[in-house]
Amino acid sequence: MHEVNTYMDQDQTILKFYQITIGHEMKCQECNANYKKEYPWLTIPLPICSSSNKFKHLEIALDEFLKWDILNGDNQCYCDICKEVTDTSSRYHIKELPQILTVQLLRFHFDTTNRCYQKFDDCIEIPLTLMFEESRDNPNEWCLSSRINKESPDESFSTLLGTVQHPHQESKVEAAAKEKLKSTKEFELFAACYHEGVYGYGHYHADIKSTADVWYSFNDQTVAKLSNVHPNRFNKSYLIMYRRKNANKSGNYNVITVQFQCVLFTLVNDECIKYLHTLWAKS
Ligand SMILES: [Zn+2]
Repeated sequence: MHEVNTYMDQDQTILKFYQITIGHEMKCQECNANYKKEYPWLTIPLPICSSSNKFKHLEIALDEFLKWDILNGDNQCYCDICKEVTDTSSRYHIKELPQILTVQLLRFHFDTTNRCYQKFDDCIEIPLTLMFEESRDNPNEWCLSSRINKESPDESFSTLLGTVQHPHQESKVEAAAKEKLKSTKEFELFAACYHEGVYGYGHYHADIKSTADVWYSFNDQTVAKLSNVHPNRFNKSYLIMYRRKNANKSGNYNVITVQFQCVLFTLVNDECIKYLHTLWAKS
């Protein structure tokens, strides 16, 4: 990560592409005092299970991550008004989305019974695209589009277009559809990094989709072009990256993307980096 910091010192522009603004809201259950903060994150550290559940799909895990949570017992928080620790409700929310969205699946956890770290090797379904929309309840927040449509299925985009019955209604429906498009951001999966083995040992390899939309597998000295990539291929990934669809792909976007991919996948293999440089130099 030192190399990432070096790049950032040299060029803060990189932050514009990778930085997620995360809001954190806490509410005292005793006096209702509300505490709000914002944090710049480069990745979303995403739990893939709870104390009672293993999440089968990335969107379920994201939904859970963005839900209200109650901090009680040993997790109570200090309230400035009550002047003591109290039960506190807490939630994270997405204030600003980046061009490149990076999610680290938290596959390692500390097992308090055996007093050692363990790895969750379970499969989790990784969607090839993620769609976000501005929240209707909180206009300055982004949430998963599928979640909104599940809550209000009769207001989905396709339904809006399908309800045209009179010519004079068309412009209203089209305006609503355009408005919906304006407040939507779609991302496509373009990189997945895997860890094989147990905590403290093992081997990393990665799949990356080029800017020409061709998938490649990078594994030590081996680089292989992939064809007919099935979505299940990514189910055991450890770190995934999505890039914004329909975003401006010209100029600095490509340069910065390649820079960060190179830094990130140095962790995987130096040979892969050399290949990446030649690959993108040609494209
Ligand atoms: Zn309080």
